[in-house]
Amino acid sequence: MNPPSREQLEARLHYPLGNALPETGHTLTVAPGVKWIRMALPFALDHINLWLLRDALDGVEGWTVVDCCISRDEAKAQWEQIFANELEGLPILRVIVTHMHPDHIGLAHWLCERWECMLWISATDYNSARIGSQSTTGFGGASAADFFASHGMTDPDSLEKIRGRASYYPGMVPAVPPRYRRLMDGQTVSIGGRGWRCISGHGHAPEHIALYNDELQVLISGDMVLPRISTNVSVYDIEPEADALTLFLDSLDKYLPLPETTLVLPSHGKPFTGLHERIQQLKDHHAERLAELLDACREQPTSGADAIPLLFQRALDLHQTTFAMGEAVAHLHRLWFGGQVRRERDAEGIYRFLAPPAPPSASPLRGITSGPAKPVPR
Ligand SMILES: [Zn+2]
Repeated sequence: MNPPSREQLEARLHYPLGNALPETGHTLTVAPGVKWIRMALPFALDHINLWLLRDALDGVEGWTVVDCCISRDEAKAQWEQIFANELEGLPILRVIVTHMHPDHIGLAHWLCERWECMLWISATDYNSARIGSQSTTGFGGASAADFFASHGMTDPDSLEKIRGRASYYPGMVPAVPPRYRRLMDGQTVSIGGRGWRCISGHGHAPEHIALYNDELQVLISGDMVLPRISTNVSVYDIEPEADALTLFLDSLDKYLPLPETTLVLPSHGKPFTGLHERIQQLKDHHAERLAELLDACREQPTSGADAIPLLFQRALDLHQTTFAMGEAVAHLHRLWFGGQVRRERDAEGIYRFLAPPAPPSASPLRGITSGPAKPVPR
């Protein structure tokens, strides 16, 4: 039996707003005091959702913004329309950022400066964003090229392009506010008199913060739970031995206690209900990919580059290939940390992962659990 298609999986979710989308420069109310903003992105992922929450801070009425879009003139122009059309003459009082990726934090410095307000974000993501925006080697450059080479990317032309891409992150996040207020797991942030609980998540960004309000039963899920695409889970050069996929899958369990009726507000796609169904879909998706990769590692030693065509059945440009490499390594590392494969490094410095042949009756999924990682095998 073929696994269900993306369309069949999506049909198991429910979109309470149907196909309605906010118009450019306008919002759509999704819950009392919660408005949806949708901004264009110049990538294959062509939009991001941002949220505007009615608020009052220190006796001043206004708005809290959740996420910002990348730094570019088109996004600033869309924000200007929002300021003119949607704020009811009130100021923006605070900027909350779910995590440090450019589409979420890019314009935080501009918003905070313009409205003289504070950025609220986890400490890990704040510091990662500051390093990324200031460093000449953050998220690109020589260190990234060496990392990809160690996982089997050998094409000199591609490596040269990655070496030259040192300004990738600062290009979209030229600055980060100089100060911030720290968000932590379990903390409750009062927004407009309602308590929003912070739920940290790992594996996609260092310390992603989702926000849940029990009264509205609304989860601002950021990039941790998306309805249509599976969240990017990658290993990066700065932490080359990370077990990012285990971190991500374990983090998903933190949403399971939320009610079935929870309205999920994702950063990409449409607001939906069906959180538990979607979490199961994501777990199944990764379990299938892991089983395929384990089979490959049984047949021959497999590098990150070897794993890409197994995980992605479509042509990828260089930018997509770098993401795919990070994902491939994340999957191989989960098998490695789980003790199902071991790692070898060849004379060229390329890591390959290999496993003994399967015993005749073994299920390919056996042993793939989301329990705590075992000690690093050497
Ligand atoms: Zn992200």
